[in-house]
Amino acid sequence: MTDAVDRASALRTYADETSECTRCPLAAGRTQVVFGVGNPDADLLFVGEAPGFHEDQQGIPFVGQAGKLLDQLLGGIGLQRSDIYIANVLKCRPPGNRDPQPEEIAACESHLFRQIELIQPKLVATLGNFATKLLSGKPLGITRVHGHEQEVMLGQSSVLLYPLYHPAAALYTPSMLRVLEEDFARIPALIERAEVSTTPGLTPPECAAEARPPEAQPVQLGLF
Ligand code: URA
Repeated sequence: MTDAVDRASALRTYADETSECTRCPLAAGRTQVVFGVGNPDADLLFVGEAPGFHEDQQGIPFVGQAGKLLDQLLGGIGLQRSDIYIANVLKCRPPGNRDPQPEEIAACESHLFRQIELIQPKLVATLGNFATKLLSGKPLGITRVHGHEQEVMLGQSSVLLYPLYHPAAALYTPSMLRVLEEDFARIPALIERAEVSTTPGLTPPECAAEARPPEAQPVQLGLF
């Protein structure tokens, strides 16, 4: 069996276990757990906030308007959903699409950390404040940190974390959409750089045009 096959099967097993999760009160109001979708062997993982109405109905992340924009942004850099993996900080829908609560994040975060451990992405793009604060271990808001990649340790692995505006926020704000498009445009170079820096025997290029030097960030998991 190849690594990729092992990974896909471990992720499926974990998704099955998670489908029964009752770690927080959101379990009572959900239609289903929205675990995540995509390529279990992806180099690029997107992490959003929480399922909304449509995601809760269909069991798939980012299937509403924000998801359409995400697909469009991916297309703009030559990627599609089958190239990446998408998950959320919370796996169950908060009522009325309210913000995730600290206790819900604390209850749910180990599902995301296990997904990261299994997928072993090279680049993790966090969409919006909740995913960014959780995975950077810092309270800095998305307006300050978007577009600034940083190297973090998530579990045993070093990954490049890349905070982005949430597509839902950019949907109705053209200036934010432009910034999101610009930040997206750097993703292919960042994947390449992350691959080089985590592959033994390869030396990072002295100077990659689009790649800025990362800030070293010790990550403290479980911020909330
Ligand atoms: N849909 C998701 O799955 N996550 C979000 O953060 C927003 C919409």
